[in-house]
Amino acid sequence: QPSPTTPLSTSPTPNTSPAAPEFPAATILGYPRIGPRRELKKAIESFWAGRSSAADVETAAAALRTRTRSRLVELGLDPSNASIPSNFSYYDQVLDAAVLAGVVPARFAHLADPATGRLDLAGYSTLARGAGDDLPLEMTKWFDTNYHYLVPEIGPDTAFRFADDRVVHEFAEGLAEGVLTRPVLVGPVTFLLLAKAADGAPAGFAPIDRLADLLPVYVQLLTALAAAGATWVQLDEPALVSDSIEATPERVLAALVEAYGVLSTELTRPNRPAIVVAAPYGGLGSALPVLASTDVDAIAIDLVRGAAPTGPVAGLETKTLVAGVVDGHNIWRADLGSALDTLESLRGLGAAAVAVGTSTSLLHVPHDVEDEPALDPTLRAWLAFADQKVGEVVTLSQGLTKGRDAVADRLEASRAGLANRTQAPGVVRPEVRGRLADLADGDFHRGDFATRKSEQAARLQLPPLPTTTIGSFPQTPEIRKARAAHAKGDLTTEQYDAEMQAEIRRVVELQERIGLDVLVHGEPERNDMVQYFAENLDGFAATQNGWVQSYGSRCVRPPILWGDVARPAPITVRWSTFTASLTNKPVKGMLTGPVTILAWSFVRNDQPLRDTANQVALALRDEIGDLEAAGIGVVQVDEPALRELLPLRAADHAAYLDWSVASFRLATSGVRPETQIHTHLCYSEFGEIFGAIDGLDADVTSIEAARSRMEILADIAAQGYQRGIGPGVYDIHSPRIPSEAEVTELLGKAVGSVAADQLWVNPDCGLKTRKYDEVIGSLEHIVAAAKTVRATL
Ligand code: GLN
Ligand code: ZN
Repeated sequence: QPSPTTPLSTSPTPNTSPAAPEFPAATILGYPRIGPRRELKKAIESFWAGRSSAADVETAAAALRTRTRSRLVELGLDPSNASIPSNFSYYDQVLDAAVLAGVVPARFAHLADPATGRLDLAGYSTLARGAGDDLPLEMTKWFDTNYHYLVPEIGPDTAFRFADDRVVHEFAEGLAEGVLTRPVLVGPVTFLLLAKAADGAPAGFAPIDRLADLLPVYVQLLTALAAAGATWVQLDEPALVSDSIEATPERVLAALVEAYGVLSTELTRPNRPAIVVAAPYGGLGSALPVLASTDVDAIAIDLVRGAAPTGPVAGLETKTLVAGVVDGHNIWRADLGSALDTLESLRGLGAAAVAVGTSTSLLHVPHDVEDEPALDPTLRAWLAFADQKVGEVVTLSQGLTKGRDAVADRLEASRAGLANRTQAPGVVRPEVRGRLADLADGDFHRGDFATRKSEQAARLQLPPLPTTTIGSFPQTPEIRKARAAHAKGDLTTEQYDAEMQAEIRRVVELQERIGLDVLVHGEPERNDMVQYFAENLDGFAATQNGWVQSYGSRCVRPPILWGDVARPAPITVRWSTFTASLTNKPVKGMLTGPVTILAWSFVRNDQPLRDTANQVALALRDEIGDLEAAGIGVVQVDEPALRELLPLRAADHAAYLDWSVASFRLATSGVRPETQIHTHLCYSEFGEIFGAIDGLDADVTSIEAARSRMEILADIAAQGYQRGIGPGVYDIHSPRIPSEAEVTELLGKAVGSVAADQLWVNPDCGLKTRKYDEVIGSLEHIVAAAKTVRATL
């Protein structure tokens, strides 16, 4: 139990405790943590590889934090008033919250210091990465972003303790350098709502049931931060903007009232910092008045994704409203004039003050547009990466406090920068717009499934339980080397193509030797399933240094989808036809679907996503038509991100699924009945969006199922699913080779729940991250198991 603080004699109730220090007029909710040259990634991976010590990582991390603080000061944030967030993490902020509260799963308990509960960097890394048979914490998507967090495991007996004061040290580190930062943490409500029940927890238990036990840790933390001199702390509560959290809205709001009631009244200032609760990624809806009724000191709202309330909100008169008008989640330059209009209109809400902020942490965008000299200058003028966004926030706050005239030159620059975005060549292409305008209902539909099924069976002549893979084969060091050499110009295109063809030949021979039924080319020519198509379609640009953290040390460089999308030439056709020339077996062409291409790119924000998705779909439709004309009888269109973009609010699901499913159908419905369309989805939560998956109208859908041991098949059958289904029988996320007996058992379960003539046999996902020796053994077992089960039909 935390020590209750001595109440100040003048403040018997929180309402009369000293006024909160003023919230900074300009701030950001968080800054990229990995470093402009991925310094943290390099430092920590070298530690994991045993090439450097934990102390080396600390040194690199401290240098990075120093750089971040001084850079933010340079960009105009005030070093003296808590405008600079202190949001560093060695891996993930949710994992940080777990170790802060001493939440270490039993299998890793021995890693914690028995006296303090603290983990060292090696122990912390083990929670994230696993050790031997001890699985790491599960990883999952952070709201509707492509960032992944680690899922804390909490049971009825989990002991909470204030086990890690790294946040306090990092605050002190900044102060020692003359920067009064604002520590940022995952708030207690979101932390518990994102956690899962630990193994062995009784049915009906939910981690949020432990809120009262967790809060003392936050009380101790706030006390320690205040003692160190912190004036403000930011608690992130994005769970408040999401309906996809496993708790009823009433439960979430009750938790909110309880948590912030305790934190703001059990401690009185100056024994705690002032609290800003941030709600990024969407609108707060009914949570805003509830939050406003608590004694927190400021509320940060997302005005890019969420709408501002239309009238005064009771309770705001004692709080600062931090208006997230600068988009933290996408890379387009803000229209500062209209952002100022929004800010001015917020004065009507009755808040004690309005401050300017970003809609989310800047974690989701790269560092600096200036770091992209190779980017077309016209496009560059439309962009704002993290550093430019800081500048926008600073300008807006000056405009708000000093009036528009004070920032007239910068408003004009913003307007001028965006002016040609509507007219620049490539942004609007009449021939692309014309095709979209001419689309008719028939362009979204294929003929009836029964006919397709029999025509495909006649053409493909496959055995029951046909075997195939999801597309990629291992990306060997040789392939990566060849790609790098080609990019540098050390390998001519002819030489590079010859190397890729040699690889395809090996992959085909391997598949034939193993006895797979539908072959793939193995995707050796692709760096990444989205980037590859972005590089081959008009309307996209690639960055050189535009890395963003995906999880832990892993970073991705999303392409920028800035213009109308068109396909200047066939992309995959020559690879697929070359593959088909090597074998008599059917070859499956391999494309990435429109929704996934959008999900993993920075997408233009000047037209509805539906239109952009349909443009991509038309380019893919042409590609599929060319594959078909070249004699390819099976084409797979991957949509692993279909579920990822599902809006956080249930009320928005139908509209999203409507355009996303339509774009897939537009891409895939131009083919003849005997051409078989496959799709691949990387998850098994089939039931959740069953209608949408059914609506894709693919002939065959492969899904992840190995980890859930086929349990979802019963659901799928119960829903009356008619089309082909390939539940993954090999979990490619693990180096383990499943035994033949194990695969046979899984397939036996599968034929027990779904009609045998619907079933396909395949791994869980692409094989590109695995090694050949793992893949060969696994595929051999899959083929042998399929034969065994076939014989029983
Ligand atoms: N065809 C892709 C591959 O096999 C699919 C990858 C994915 O689903 N993420 O690599
Ligand atoms: Zn997958």
